[in-house]
Amino acid sequence: VRIHGLAKNFNELSNRVPERVFAHTPEGPLTFGELSSRADAMISHLSAQGVRAGDRVIVMMRNSPASLALIFGLMRAGMIWVPTNPALVGDGLAHAIKLVEAAIVVCDPNLVETVEHCGATAEKGILPLAGLPPAVEAASLQEPVLAPDDLVALMFTSGTTGPSKAVMVTHAMLELSAQAAAFCAGLRPGDNLYVWEPFYHIGGAQVIALPLLHDVVLTLRDRFSASRFWADVREAGCTHIHHLGGIIQILLKQPPSPLDRDHDVRIAWGGGCPADVWKAFEDRFGVEIRECYGMTESSSLTTCNTEGAVGSVGRPLPWFTVTVKDEAGKVLGAGEGRGEIIVNTSLPAAIFPGYYRNPEATAKALRDDGFHTGDLGSWNEDGLLFFHGRMGDSIRCRGENVSSHEVESVALRHPDVEECAMVGVPAEVGEYDIQLFIVRRKGSELKPDTLHDWLAGRLAPYQRPRYIAFVEEFPKTPSQRIQKHRLPQAPEGRWD
Ligand code: ATP
Ligand code: MG
Repeated sequence: VRIHGLAKNFNELSNRVPERVFAHTPEGPLTFGELSSRADAMISHLSAQGVRAGDRVIVMMRNSPASLALIFGLMRAGMIWVPTNPALVGDGLAHAIKLVEAAIVVCDPNLVETVEHCGATAEKGILPLAGLPPAVEAASLQEPVLAPDDLVALMFTSGTTGPSKAVMVTHAMLELSAQAAAFCAGLRPGDNLYVWEPFYHIGGAQVIALPLLHDVVLTLRDRFSASRFWADVREAGCTHIHHLGGIIQILLKQPPSPLDRDHDVRIAWGGGCPADVWKAFEDRFGVEIRECYGMTESSSLTTCNTEGAVGSVGRPLPWFTVTVKDEAGKVLGAGEGRGEIIVNTSLPAAIFPGYYRNPEATAKALRDDGFHTGDLGSWNEDGLLFFHGRMGDSIRCRGENVSSHEVESVALRHPDVEECAMVGVPAEVGEYDIQLFIVRRKGSELKPDTLHDWLAGRLAPYQRPRYIAFVEEFPKTPSQRIQKHRLPQAPEGRWD
């Protein structure tokens, strides 16, 4: 791949093919020309407030034509896009505003009060945005010259393992994230991607640049709806869907319909499809699953499985090399067990330059031998990578390492277990005991002892939970990942 420069591509295309459709949206088709002139309007708004190139602009908006126009405006003007979840309130929002020393907060009008009361203020206040602003004369604007390694965004990680970190994302990284998506999804000219995942995480942001680099169109939505999903995808003529955050299981739980295969979707690309439902999904909906592995820090997708090898996250993309190392730093090969996934690249632009104003976290992640992901992986004989959860997410229990991923995937097979999370609680004898938190299926009367017996038949003695507690719901990130660090720390529901 080659880095073209997103702002340059955007300017060229909107001049050359202004009538080409960039995205189909609930408000109608959005063309390159329209997007370009509205992007300029956004910038003249911001400039009028005194916002300049290099300033950080917090954006709290759902996916919409206006949010797209704003992103491209910021990109073109060299202002830094800092997307945050529109659901953020109070301290979380104040932290973001202070961390990036925001020049301004642009938000949906209904969020103004929340922003006003969060406990921090941006230098130039709040700019509510009700929709696409009227087009303006573009000639009055001066565009800065942008280099691929200039910052385009500060993107917050999901906050699964602790407070979110702001990843410095360059123009080149955003461009590569789109190239990675095109590669993994196997895009062809004329393809139509169903985009529901929010732009404030890399999983959504990676598609923004796709229409600039490939002849494809986006179908833009601002949320995922399980009941309307296939009808919507069918009517929009989409060829690709993105799977994340458990939507594979959610879609499988919908009542079967004679229309299940009546659509144009060929591929579902994304991450987090459990091995045990993979084939069921493919068979029922006639859609191929492409399972990928990646993160904000490595410009999103880093490996991809295009071979249908159930359970694997595939092979590194052509511009990445991936190694798996044990705690002593020894490189592990096929069949040599699990270790930390470490990423290197032939395109230096593919890996982030650091976390914004967080040198400790940066030093921990970016080391001499590459980017330390903090994730556990292993190889099989065919050179395929397997993802086994987070490194910190395994505990020492009775002299053995027990990974949450293993225990949770067994518990999830129980028909009454809707969701579960394993954590370690300090044991009297040193090391840890296993605590399982469970959300039961609606209406289920499952008891801890019944579940414990069921698990005992499927887990080794050192993998069995000592404590089982039922909870109503889990604390989660906006991308629907369970935040274990926010679960109760004391053992509950003792089992002996
Ligand atoms: P934080 O770093 O704040 O704890 P996060 O790591 O969840 O949050 P993201 O950058 O959005 O934030 O997510 C990247 C992580 O997602 C990876 O490090 C990995 O743990 C997990 N992940 C990536 N690919 C997959 C996959 N195919 N299946 C399951 N989990 C995955
Ligand atoms: Mg992370």
